[in-house]
Amino acid sequence: MQSPIRVMSIMAHQDDFEFNAGGLFAWLRRHYGDRVELKILATTRGASGHQTMGLEETFRIREKEAQASANVIGASYECLNLLDNSHAIGQVFLDRNTLGGLWNAIRDFRPDFIICPPVITDPRAGIHIDHYNTAWAVRYVAYQLTVPHAYPALTEKARTARFPAPLIINCDDTYARESGYDVALDISAVYAEKERMILCHDSQIFDWLPWNAGVKAPTREEYTAEFLGRHHEVNRRYGFDIETPREVFRVTFWGRVPTRQDLDTIFPGASISQEALARLKL
Ligand SMILES: [Zn+2]
Repeated sequence: MQSPIRVMSIMAHQDDFEFNAGGLFAWLRRHYGDRVELKILATTRGASGHQTMGLEETFRIREKEAQASANVIGASYECLNLLDNSHAIGQVFLDRNTLGGLWNAIRDFRPDFIICPPVITDPRAGIHIDHYNTAWAVRYVAYQLTVPHAYPALTEKARTARFPAPLIINCDDTYARESGYDVALDISAVYAEKERMILCHDSQIFDWLPWNAGVKAPTREEYTAEFLGRHHEVNRRYGFDIETPREVFRVTFWGRVPTRQDLDTIFPGASISQEALARLKL
């Protein structure tokens, strides 16, 4: 483990992080102060999803919103550079350009932990191509991270140093709606920060998402109630009491195999069930 601890979120769009891992990151900042480095990576420009603005304007606004949100918790934010040095507009594909770009971005940041969406296992689940393929991209690249010449290096520095594999953890996903979890983190103490972060994403929550759902744009008050309702829905799906806002996570073996110390480090103060420890063989 490095000091400070390095934690990276890898998700498809600029607002995905806030919904499913914003509370964890806010909690890590609260708990560790400057002993943690937080990085948020979006694998696309998030520019497809707006009903009136063009691609460039949407991208510019989404970048500003993501940066403002990252600033709330002192995280850095970046849109993924693909191998050809472009950004994906949207529609993540599993090709060498995506995997190589991701490989470089992860090797640049050197995370101890990565948080990303899950690979969907339920055949009934809806699929968002960007979320789904971002999960697969992380999974595909996980082992290759340790391989020095798997992809061309995008920096001047050759990537010949030994690269310790990060521990890769799945968060909940709005489209996948899976129900297995290892850790449920009570985020009550940092819920206000999480709410501040999501409210940075005006172009999503007040424009695009209601338009796409065919509903009237909410007021700020209506949206904050709806946002809390999302947490209630997660609680219902996983069988918890409704009122406590939580984020849920599942530990993978895609990268480093977890240790008990890993879990205590990335989920400080969380109670981890005996069932989860048995499942993870800890
Ligand atoms: Zn998304």
